[in-house]
Amino acid sequence: MMKKTSILSFLGFCFVCTCFCLVRAEEPGYTDTPFLPDSQWRVHDQARPQPQKVKPGTGDIGMTAPSDAVVLFDGKTLEKWMRGDGTPAGDGILADGSFDIVKTGQLRTKEEFGDCQLHVEWMSPPEEAVKNDRMNWGNSGVFMMGEFEMQIIESHDSYIYADGNAGAVYGQYPPLVNPARKPGEWQSFDIYFTAPKFDGEKLVIPAYVTIVYNGVMVQNHQPILGTAVHRVLPGAYPVKTTGPLMLQEHHSAVKFRNIWIRPL
Ligand code: MG
Repeated sequence: MMKKTSILSFLGFCFVCTCFCLVRAEEPGYTDTPFLPDSQWRVHDQARPQPQKVKPGTGDIGMTAPSDAVVLFDGKTLEKWMRGDGTPAGDGILADGSFDIVKTGQLRTKEEFGDCQLHVEWMSPPEEAVKNDRMNWGNSGVFMMGEFEMQIIESHDSYIYADGNAGAVYGQYPPLVNPARKPGEWQSFDIYFTAPKFDGEKLVIPAYVTIVYNGVMVQNHQPILGTAVHRVLPGAYPVKTTGPLMLQEHHSAVKFRNIWIRPL
C-alpha cells in the first residue's frame, strides 16, 4: 500500500513538474543570453521580475508644445520626417490627427538631436490578436539618436520579458513600474535625454535617460549601456553626439500624435 502511494505521489510530482515546465516554456524571455554588465540578470531574462502595475493619473495627454520646442508632428504634416531608408514618409496620417506607423513606414527626423526633452503620444492597436503574436503586439519604439530604444509595446493586456515592456530601455532596464493604459487608449512618453560624451573616439560619459510614462517615472537618469539589439549585449556606442529621432515600424499598427522636442 505504501509502495502504491509512493508511486502515485511520484507520478503526481512528475505531472506537476511537467505542467510547470510547460508554463515556463510559454513565459517570454530567455535563459541562455549573456548577463548584463554588473547585473544578476541576463539580456531579456525570463526570470527577471515583471514591473508592478500602477494605474496612472491623468493630465499627461494633450500637453501642448512650449514656444521653444520643435514641433515634429501636429496632426497635419509629416514634413519633418522621412522613412528610415531616406525615402519620403508614406501617407499614414489619419482623420483623428494621428498617424499609423505601418502606413508611414519606419520614420526618422530630418533634423538630428542630442540632449533633449521629448513629448510623444502613442496608442497600441486594440484589434490585434494576442494568441500567436503576443511578442509583437503594439511593438514600436522611440530611438534616441536613432540608436537607443525606449520600448513601446502593448503592456496592459499583455507582457513580454521584463526588459522588453513599454517604458524599458530595451534589453537593459525594465520600467520601474508598469503604468500602461489599455490598448486603444492614448499613452505618453516624456523623455529627458543626455547625449554621450567622447574624448576623440573614446566614450567618456554614456548617454543618460529619464522616462516619464503616462505621468509616472519609469526610468530615473539611467546610464544607457549601448545601442539597442536583441538577445545579445547592448551594442558599442557609435562615435557621435547627435542623431535623428527614430520611430520603429515593427509590423504592428501603432499610432502616434502630438510629438514635440526641445533641444537642450
Ligand atoms: Mg520595439
